Amino acid sequence: MTHRITLIPGDGIGPEVVEAARRVIEATGTSVDWERQPMGAGAFSRTGRTLPAQTVESIRATRVALKGPVETPVTSGLRSTNLELRKTLDLYANVRPCRLYPGVPSVYDQVDLIVVRENTEGMYTGLEFEMGTVAVKELMRFVEDTTGRRIREDSGVSIKTISRFGSERIVRFAFEEARRRGRTKVTASHKANIMKFTDGLFLEVARSVAQDYPDIAFDDRIIDALCMQLIQAPERFDVLVMPNLYGDVAAELGAGLIGGVGVAPGAHFGGDDGVELALFEATHGTAPDLAGTNQANPLGVMLSGAMLLRHVGELDAGDRLEAAIAAVLADGTHLPGDLRAPDDDRAPAGTFQMADAVIAQL
Ligand code: NAD
Repeated sequence: MTHRITLIPGDGIGPEVVEAARRVIEATGTSVDWERQPMGAGAFSRTGRTLPAQTVESIRATRVALKGPVETPVTSGLRSTNLELRKTLDLYANVRPCRLYPGVPSVYDQVDLIVVRENTEGMYTGLEFEMGTVAVKELMRFVEDTTGRRIREDSGVSIKTISRFGSERIVRFAFEEARRRGRTKVTASHKANIMKFTDGLFLEVARSVAQDYPDIAFDDRIIDALCMQLIQAPERFDVLVMPNLYGDVAAELGAGLIGGVGVAPGAHFGGDDGVELALFEATHGTAPDLAGTNQANPLGVMLSGAMLLRHVGELDAGDRLEAAIAAVLADGTHLPGDLRAPDDDRAPAGTFQMADAVIAQL
């Protein structure tokens, strides 16, 4: 069977790492009909739009995308092209596996976490009001009238919202993900001790959803305590679920435990009109300092590609791709610059050498 998949090369190192990932995906023997689509700063200079309608329509049609990082030009008027895409397609669940592979320099022996981050609400609603504007003054007046509390006049205001609906669907997603992957524990993280009506609601819903999954253990941690414990003993945790901002920070912390953003994969799930959509991308950005140099680490996108293969039903190809990447890392002959230990003076492998090494393992 041939899979139709949207391919978004993106900006900066995106086209290089995505091309390397495309090659290794095809080397698994999986047949793919790629629909190449523009997004980001390059798309903006060519089409006047950072998120052209044809790109959104392509993802709706293929239901699956492999994406490189994108830059949002200030002149585009958009806050973030990524947030715009996630909002447009209601990609509410961000899954960020953090697995330490043997051969990657690390102070830890074992890390195998999955961070499930709510992607559409929390602190990232995009409801922001600039200092000194009429809107922010009206908001301040409303707050003073209803609570008697004054917000300093020289403040900007961001609105954080957490809904019962949004909390229930992300926590349920995390438990289902745990079941799919044979995991045994879900930990919800929050700041419910301070934000009772938002994070408190998230925690209340999480506790209630957990009762539907008696086969999976459940506990919770305040986000600051979780960060400390993740650094002290990451092996104590399994699947983590949390609101948007905390998930963003915890997933990046998790990437730090396993060798950095170069090797951290990710995926976004959701969809509109009842159609399930999935978008796979590494967690790093466009790394302008490395663009066009063949030095970027493509393993994050390749591991996202392994997730994609499993998602489209190519379980064996996904497992073989991940095993081939793990074998290249364990062997240590070909390692990109960001994964070389400081005392390892062998020449780093380039982006496309890494692709060749993974293909040789496959
Ligand atoms: P970044 O991830 O691009 O770079 C941070 C550091 O990590 C840099 O030193 C970079 O060289 C290094 N790095 C990143 N990816 C690497 C890789 N694959 N191999 C080796 N080293 C790598 O983050 P940033 O500098 O904060 O952001 C740069 C741009 O990327 C910004 O425009 C930002 O908005 C965008 N961005 C996009 C996405 C996305 O599209 N998903 C995510 C994050 C940032």
